[in-house]
Amino acid sequence: SIDVDWLDAWDVEDGSAQARALFTEVFDAAPDGVWSAPGRGNLIGEHTDYNGGLVLPFALPHRTYAAITRRADRTVRLVSAQEAGTVVTVDLDTVAPGTVTGWVAYVVGVAWALEQAGATLGGFDVAITSCVPYGAGLSSSAALEGSVAIGLDALFGLGHGADDAGRQHLVAACIRAENEIAGAPTGGMDQAAALRSQEGHALLLDCRSLEVRQIPFDLASDGLALLVVDTRAPHALVDGQYAARRDTCEAAAAVLGVETLREVTDLDAALATLAAPGALDASGQDPEVTARRVKHVVTEIARVGEVVSLLDSGRTSEVGAVLSAAHASLRDDYEVSCHELDVAVDAAVQAGALGGRMIGGGFGGSAIALVRVEDAEQVAGEIAAAFESEGLRAPGFLVAVAGGPAS
Ligand code: ADP
Ligand code: MG
Repeated sequence: SIDVDWLDAWDVEDGSAQARALFTEVFDAAPDGVWSAPGRGNLIGEHTDYNGGLVLPFALPHRTYAAITRRADRTVRLVSAQEAGTVVTVDLDTVAPGTVTGWVAYVVGVAWALEQAGATLGGFDVAITSCVPYGAGLSSSAALEGSVAIGLDALFGLGHGADDAGRQHLVAACIRAENEIAGAPTGGMDQAAALRSQEGHALLLDCRSLEVRQIPFDLASDGLALLVVDTRAPHALVDGQYAARRDTCEAAAAVLGVETLREVTDLDAALATLAAPGALDASGQDPEVTARRVKHVVTEIARVGEVVSLLDSGRTSEVGAVLSAAHASLRDDYEVSCHELDVAVDAAVQAGALGGRMIGGGFGGSAIALVRVEDAEQVAGEIAAAFESEGLRAPGFLVAVAGGPAS
């Protein structure tokens, strides 16, 4: 039988101690404090965030830890155990879009965005470490931003971390950091999951109003578990695909005369409008492709509502079929899956999973499968075996339990 690579989460004491130890080793003093924020899974609602739609992410127990000390000047010194452990120094006053690259941008970008929003910060020393799988579609980037945001909020006395309204302010800063300083055009779900989740709950986020509802999410009580598969697929030649999907959605919304595809209430009528001769000519978008993109977004938003009703009414096992429908839509209509993701989902379902789908932006990253608790190991084993027989890199696995937010 095949080895299954389980990606265990650190407990909070251990993660904090590791960040503290790294800080002390590098900066030769104890940090003022240690803050952390989670990576996330997403039960349903993919590529809906930037369309003003609904998403249903949840915090993973896997977290990024930031040990931080305030400085009296405007210097930032940073070190990450995941980035060779070498110290990088940045002058906070030089941070602007385009001036910083690489992982450092996510950290100083948060400080920049908080100051852009009116806060006065100062320099700081920060040591980072993390057990969130890196670049696996489980949002290590927002975990990093969230740990720094909640830490700076506490150290500089901004007071946003205390309640959900304040946390929305931190979310906005993290989004700006990622979009404008790190240069990654993400839609906002990840940062909300890192900062606004609650333990034991999935976060129903309306990306138009930014309102949230905490949905009790305890699969174990129904004898179920959510298996997460990090496919470890290399992201090749996909630069620009995310931006292209966003462009198509925006072009379709413009033709339909709506601000975002969230406003589409009648899919057939919308598709008829888009199919009218010449409707998309000015946008340069292909009508057949655009129709499939719109169909995915509109049906995916509906699937979020469907999953919430199933969870609300205790019909948890029926969520599996909705996940599989979402996967087909992402694969065939939105065209953001890849071979590894399809192998993971197909092997999971063949091994007895109730359903599954790719999560995250796509073209690699992770998939989820809803399984009976007693089947989790078996399903993981069969996915690993399918990867091996396809000659693919061995995937990593974790069983998701909804963890707590940045703290
Ligand atoms: P994902 O968010 O799915 O993990 P991204 O490409 O959005 O993937 O973010 C990964 C990037 O975030 C890394 O390449 C790195 O720049 C930064 N990052 C995430 N975690 C850390 C960490 N612990 N230390 C340093 N940089 C990190
Ligand atoms: Mg990310």
